[in-house]
Amino acid sequence: MTIRNPYFDTDEPPRIDALAIAAHPDDVEQTCGGTLIRLAEQGYRTGVLDLTAGDMGTRGTPELRIEESEAAGGLMLLKWRGNLRLPDARLENTLAARMTLATELRRLQPRLLILPYWEARHPDHAKASELGYEAAFLAGLRKLDQYTEPHRPRKILYASQYANVPPSLVVDITSQFDRRMEALLAYRSQYGAQQEGSDLFPGEGEIRERLATVARFYGNLIGVKYGEPFVVKEPVAVEDVMQLGPRSI
Ligand SMILES: [Zn+2]
Repeated sequence: MTIRNPYFDTDEPPRIDALAIAAHPDDVEQTCGGTLIRLAEQGYRTGVLDLTAGDMGTRGTPELRIEESEAAGGLMLLKWRGNLRLPDARLENTLAARMTLATELRRLQPRLLILPYWEARHPDHAKASELGYEAAFLAGLRKLDQYTEPHRPRKILYASQYANVPPSLVVDITSQFDRRMEALLAYRSQYGAQQEGSDLFPGEGEIRERLATVARFYGNLIGVKYGEPFVVKEPVAVEDVMQLGPRSI
């Protein structure tokens, strides 16, 4: 079911430190790609699981979207990227979807899970958030199935860039911003110059400006150039309050 990337290391189940789950290919490139790149640069093994292949999209085909998502994954230094090919624009939190996702989580064993923020204009984004959380819970149940070991991610971050909510934390992606932008522009069927859907899709120049402005806004909140916002449901634990950033006054 899962489509494997050419740069995927082996046929063995990959062990991933941090996994981002998203509704559509090109979501993570806009919401948490900079953080994934930064994690990879820090030596962590990162992965992305897209739930749909954008089969209802105005432009391109699901096959093309997956091909483009693999190229984008390479640019984001991912160790693995998969796609569950669930139905786009009508994603549902069904038992079958939860079980499939729980099995993937047991196989990949991520310690950190990045999900979309739970409220969203696009129903798929909200559903992906709900599905991811419930699958993460199921994945920890010993009796779920006899073939895979129980596993539950230690921490869940909600990527909140699509939602206009105050972040719990902002990751400095100043050094990763250009690479993240190139990853997004790897979706040439979506963002390349073309006639079809040109009333719906902004051109490349507009995309660059828009993403830079948003990343600049969040970066500014923590005193850096570019940032990516996240919400966590728990308070943030701090080892050393003397190191706490950003500056207050
Ligand atoms: Zn999306």
